[in-house]
This record gives sequence, structure tokens and C-alpha cells, in this order.
Amino acid sequence: MWSYHPDLLARPVPRYTSYPTAMEFAEDVGADDYAQALDAVEPATPISLYVHIPFCESICWYCGCNTGAAGRKQRLDDYLTALRAEVAIVAKRLGGRGRIRRIAFGGGSPNAIAPVELVRLLDLLLIVFDAHRPDVSIELDPRGFSSEWALVLAAAHVTRVSLGVQTFAPHVQQAIGRIQPLSHIERVVAALRLRGIDAINFDLMFGLPGQELADLDATLDETIRLMPSRIALFGYAHLPDMIPRQRRIDAANLPDARLRFDQARLGYRRLKAAGYIPVGFDHFARADDPLAAAAREGRVNRNFQGFTEDDAPILIGFGASAISKFPNLIVQNEKKSGPYRDLVGEGRLAAVRGVHVDAREQRRAVHIRDLLCNGRAHLDAAEIPSAQDALSDFEQKGVIEWDGEALVIRDCGLLYARHVAACFDGTRGNIAAV
Ligand code: SF4
Repeated sequence: MWSYHPDLLARPVPRYTSYPTAMEFAEDVGADDYAQALDAVEPATPISLYVHIPFCESICWYCGCNTGAAGRKQRLDDYLTALRAEVAIVAKRLGGRGRIRRIAFGGGSPNAIAPVELVRLLDLLLIVFDAHRPDVSIELDPRGFSSEWALVLAAAHVTRVSLGVQTFAPHVQQAIGRIQPLSHIERVVAALRLRGIDAINFDLMFGLPGQELADLDATLDETIRLMPSRIALFGYAHLPDMIPRQRRIDAANLPDARLRFDQARLGYRRLKAAGYIPVGFDHFARADDPLAAAAREGRVNRNFQGFTEDDAPILIGFGASAISKFPNLIVQNEKKSGPYRDLVGEGRLAAVRGVHVDAREQRRAVHIRDLLCNGRAHLDAAEIPSAQDALSDFEQKGVIEWDGEALVIRDCGLLYARHVAACFDGTRGNIAAV
């Protein structure tokens, strides 16, 4: 039974795809720190790679990603040249240390580039790094998908595809500037499965303009029928002052906080009833998916793409705005494509901001990760009194409970998970002992 407590949800809190969050990145941390972190990588350390393609065929009005219209071919070619240069710079610095277990292409829309360019990029990564049959995943815009893409992805041993579906309701698609009929998504899914790619993720959204509960219910009907292996159900965040393209969205048409809560609750109820395993606060995995196994075994992790079973301690990001993460450092590349190209063109690492993560922040990061990913965090005895004090409202309202020294978010408290976790945040929290 999920109860609505607007007072507990009133405070805006981050999504915590990392901790510390990008808001804590500063410009006195950058390329030199990144170089030192790369130099310190031990041989055979598991590493995940992320490659950012900041282009899309057309831009959706709600989108908060660092992306722009693909436009001229020369622009894409220049960016790909820079990406290859950055890969070479990082590979040289690593000198064969580290073992690549996963490669993810995201954006933007990686299918804004030609299929052959994706294959070339992937080949380069496999050649210059120590990588043996890594898991390869890619985000795709279904609107730019063709059967050629299915063929190429299968031939390149891509193991997982994430499709931006968002909603099947035509009037909501109209209101967010993203038209993609259900029949087209059905064709994309069929084409991928025909080529043997069954690990298909759907990204869905609630809180969209004009989206009623019935619209989400109907989208969930079709989603469950198509049986993707993972579903992410994200809440739309309307921030037109920070994201100018969102000004095209009619704010008067957005669901209020109560309806948003009901939509998230509906998604949880419907997907759980359909056999999906809830993961974190907004992901769902089919019982046969590795993420469901990770949820059962309490080893879900969180990275910049959401909840994952990936447990590599190091993530290296390539491309404009890409983020790299080490146990004691997070750095972000230059966000704008032009200056990014200039940096790597000069043979330099492209990191221009970031944050050091000391032992205390690492401890907070573990608590935040454990709460968001697995719904429980083990505290030290010294931490418990101030945590109990800070979380008393959540406890009174039945959102959390204590199991010895473990702080537990109850199933009915999932939607409050970020707010509970925020109490452990060194910048926004109020648990002094942590
Ligand atoms: S396709 Fe995806 S990345 Fe591109 S604009 Fe739309 S939501 Fe953003």
C-alpha cells in the first residue's frame, strides 16, 4: 500500500546517478587528476567504457541530454575523428592495464551516425584496449532505426539495445515533439529479435504533458505485450530555465504532483503484476534478465545510465560531456563539441571539471547507493542515532524501518528512496555523524 506524503517529497533532490553529483563538480579538478587516476589503474582491473554520441536526427522537446541536431555530415565526421583521438590518448595512458568488460554507446542517439561508423568505433575499442567479448549495449532512437541497423548490431555482437519509447499515446507524443507509432516500435522489436537480440530495454516516461492515468495504463498494456527484458519508467522533470528546449512544452498541461505519484504507483503495480522484478525506484527487469538476478542477490549498482548489474570499479567515458569515474575521483569531459575537439586534437585529455571523493564521501556514496539500489543500508553504531533523528518523519509515516543496524526502505516507500538517500548527502543531508 503506497501512501502519498507530499511533505516528504517537497524537497527537490538529485537522481544520484553518481555521488557526489555533477552539481558538485568544480573546475579545479580536471585533466591532470584524470591522468593520475589512469596511471594508477592496476593490471586486469575491470573497466566499463561509455561512448557518448551527442547527436539526434530530431530533438525531442522534453530531452535533458547533452545532444544536438545531427545536421551536416562533416560535423559528425569531425566528432568521430575527435572520439577516435580521445580513445587513442586514453589507451596510450593505460598502456594495456585494465580489462574491459562492458562497452555502452549512449547519447543523444548513437544511431544518428552511420552503422559502419559504429562498427569502426567498436573495432577500435576492441583493438586498443584489453577486451575479450565484452557486453556491448547501445541506446537507439527507434525513429532512425532500419533493418540494416539490426543486421549490423547482430554482426557486431551487440548484446543489449535500449529503445526510447516514452509513451504510446499519440496526443502525448504530439505534446513532447516525438511522434513514433506503436506499429513502428513493434517492427523494431521484431527486427532485433529476428537477428537474435532479445535483451531489449524500453525507456518509458510518466509526468508528461497531457498524460492521464489511462494513457500510461494503455502504454503499459502494450509494453507488457511486447515483453522487453528491462523497463525504465522515468518521471519527466520540467526545468525550462535550465533546459531551454523544454519551453515548447505547455507547463499548464503537466500532471500535478499527486497525479505523478499515482502514475509511478500504477507503473509499479502493473509491471510487478506482469512478473517484472522492481529494481531500484524506477527500473523493472524480466525474471530471466541478469538485472533481476542482481536484484535478488542484493548487488544492483547505479551509474550514469541508471540501475545496472555492472560492478566494475572504473568507468571511462569518451566524448563531449562524458563522465569518468574512479573510486576516489569523478571527472567530466568538456561539454561542447567544438572545444572538446580542440582539446583532444592537441593530444590532451578532455576532462575539465570533476570532484575528488575522499574516504568520508565514499562512505556516504555507499549508503546512498545501497539505499537506492537495494533498499537497505548498514550503518555503523555511531551513525544510527543521528540517522534515526533525521529520518523520524519517514519512519513515522511507514516509509522506512530499522532491522538492527540496517536502515530499510519498505516496498511501499520506494518512491521516497531518493529523499531518504538525500539525508546522507554531505551537501544536502542532515545526518551529521555520517
Ligand atoms: S532521441 Fe533521445 S537523446 Fe535525442 S532528443 Fe530525443 S530524447 Fe533526447
